[in-house]
Amino acid sequence: MTAAPEQVDVLAVAREQVLEQGVGLSEEQVLEVLRLPDDRIPELLELAHAVRMRWCGPEVEVEGIVSLKTGGCPEDCHFCSQSGQFPSPVRSAWLDIPGLVKAARQTAETGASEFCIVAAVRGPDKRLLSQVRDGIKAIREDGNDIQIACSLGMLTQEQVDELVDMGVHRYNHNLETARSHFPNVVTTHSWEERWDTLKMIRAAGMEVCCGGIIGMGETLEQRAEFAVQLAELEPDEVPLNFLIPNPGTPYENYPVVEGPEALRTVGAFRLALPRTILRFAGGRELTFGDLGAKQGMLGGVNAIIVGNYLTNLGRPAQDDLDMLTELAMPIKELSKTL
Ligand code: SF4
Repeated sequence: MTAAPEQVDVLAVAREQVLEQGVGLSEEQVLEVLRLPDDRIPELLELAHAVRMRWCGPEVEVEGIVSLKTGGCPEDCHFCSQSGQFPSPVRSAWLDIPGLVKAARQTAETGASEFCIVAAVRGPDKRLLSQVRDGIKAIREDGNDIQIACSLGMLTQEQVDELVDMGVHRYNHNLETARSHFPNVVTTHSWEERWDTLKMIRAAGMEVCCGGIIGMGETLEQRAEFAVQLAELEPDEVPLNFLIPNPGTPYENYPVVEGPEALRTVGAFRLALPRTILRFAGGRELTFGDLGAKQGMLGGVNAIIVGNYLTNLGRPAQDDLDMLTELAMPIKELSKTL
């Protein structure tokens, strides 16, 4: 009679593989982590935190975000209140240059190193790109040397080159979800189109910021698939969002991801992506509340957005900055990132 093979504990494996060697978990391993029982979450978070400290250090990247063009997007991403295809209450609006300069200044004043200019579009047209160019010029003329990121949808090679020329150092473009689930979430463009844009950004030398949203009806298997697809891209930053079921969108009645499940997801993504900047993005107040935000920061997260998100109100910036002081996590300074 042969003995049954001994079950190897995934966290023990991760301690050696991820913490000691810096090698992210495979899809099967991520799935195992996502299936851990609730009573092992503290152990998972402790390990995820150790991985983050070992491979990224104690610093936290603080970022501000502003919407240059809000609402009225022709695409049909089912989670998005800025799509013009759904009856959500977000109205189409443009921010003017003085508004942009003011938002950048306020962001810099919080100590943030990163300011992201966002537009709700399929991709930028000439008008939008010239607004961005004028905006960046005006921010610099204001004496503000904060690093500029952009999130303007899908790009052509020419547009990528133009952004590099403007001095944009990081570009955000989310894959949103696993490749196998994407067609259920978006029908007006493909996962591959997003992937192509990301590849061009990387090749042009800009930093890549790419993440997605958890809680859009994907299976645990698809969450694991998504984590390794992101790892394959080797993004500099991964914003992890939890679905906000926005009124008027097809997902308005989707349940909010529960705290324990969200924490398991944060831990699993950190173990799949040991070196990336992992950012808490939209939805964290809903999912975690105040206490859970802290748990996430001690569970592998090392970046936050301060102030308001695009269409949903975040916590006041000072609350987050106070939390970082309490956790003895220094804010990543601008000079160190240049
Ligand atoms: S492309 Fe962006 S702004 Fe437009 S609907 Fe999709 S997520 Fe929303």
